Amino acid sequence: MDGNKTGGLSEVRRRNRTHIREIIYRRAPITRTEIAHELGLTLPTVTTSVAQMLEDGLLTETLMAEPAGSAGGRPPLLLGFNPEAGRALGVELGPYETAVVLTDLVGNPVAQTLLPAVQEYDEMLEQLETALRPYLNEDKLMGVGLGLPGFVSRESGEVRTSILGRKWDNRPIAGDLSQRLGVPVMVDNNVRMRAGGQALFHGKETENLFAYLFVSKGIACPLMIRGRVLSGSTSGAGELGHMVMQPGGRICPTCGRRGCLESLTGETAILRDCTEQRQAGRARTLAAICGDQPPDIRAVLQAQQAGDPDIAEVMENALRYLGLALANVVNLISPAQVLVEGYLFRYESNKELLLKYARSHFYGLNEQQVQIRFLEFNRYGGALGAAAAVIEHFCIQGE
Ligand SMILES: [Zn+2]
Repeated sequence: MDGNKTGGLSEVRRRNRTHIREIIYRRAPITRTEIAHELGLTLPTVTTSVAQMLEDGLLTETLMAEPAGSAGGRPPLLLGFNPEAGRALGVELGPYETAVVLTDLVGNPVAQTLLPAVQEYDEMLEQLETALRPYLNEDKLMGVGLGLPGFVSRESGEVRTSILGRKWDNRPIAGDLSQRLGVPVMVDNNVRMRAGGQALFHGKETENLFAYLFVSKGIACPLMIRGRVLSGSTSGAGELGHMVMQPGGRICPTCGRRGCLESLTGETAILRDCTEQRQAGRARTLAAICGDQPPDIRAVLQAQQAGDPDIAEVMENALRYLGLALANVVNLISPAQVLVEGYLFRYESNKELLLKYARSHFYGLNEQQVQIRFLEFNRYGGALGAAAAVIEHFCIQGE
């Protein structure tokens, strides 16, 4: 028997309240009866917790619209979070730019801004202190979330190793920034935060087990399990870009080893291959678009759409490897769903190529059952994910 009966019970109540907040957040608008049913709790337990949250101003309730021709009776009340009950600041230090967003409690952007990408650690602290200062007086600001590439530990708030340079390694980035800003700061890998943002802000459209494939300069594929992101014991989970696809192959532009996925596909590898095509006197359409300038990914896609055969070949090759890597992920973990996001997929033809190569390597039931959904590329997706981490921590998990 549990010697500390009261402590055990209050722990159960605390956990129930967390589950209730979680389900309301992800599934709103939702009725008390639905919450009780979904969580296997009694209606009075749900009603008591909800009454407290309504009194605290955390939730709002609205009458469900009566269906036409209904026999009357009292329509059920729908619960949801009160958008005005809190604010979160999210920042992503992305490969091309730094994105900042201030959201309300349900993830609607209240203000947003883009800043140039920074390379130096101290310069980053300065930049963020200046950029975030105007929002720090916001009433009800819970904290700041910061997503950045590399091995980042959410638990310790440290950058373990960064692709931005040695000077970033082992820095207590959450503590350093929190000291400057005077508010709590949470950090994590930027793509894991993007995945978390999908799970929290789009709870109704995401499954319990999903993978989030993100393609930019690098490639990552974090896994979400029941609203939690898998970080791994070294904070390195989801680094799909360094899965070995070609032993002894070309050098990976990120890690320097040979034959990684990022040596074959992703925006960096695609730009390298396109530049080589131009140097060899091919890719005429791309040459006409860029002139003397080195190609960027926008120009590459433009040349692909215009029918440049050499660029079409580069893209098909890149998407073939990406499709194979996706098939490996699906065969390994069998997710219910894969969400795919990347600027490359703004054109239908690239989505189709990825699916063609992935599907031809799915094993067993995955072939029919895994759902693959492309998300519209969002420059603020990482900043929103960072804001989601703040909301999750302070509003859903916290008491
Ligand atoms: Zn690598």
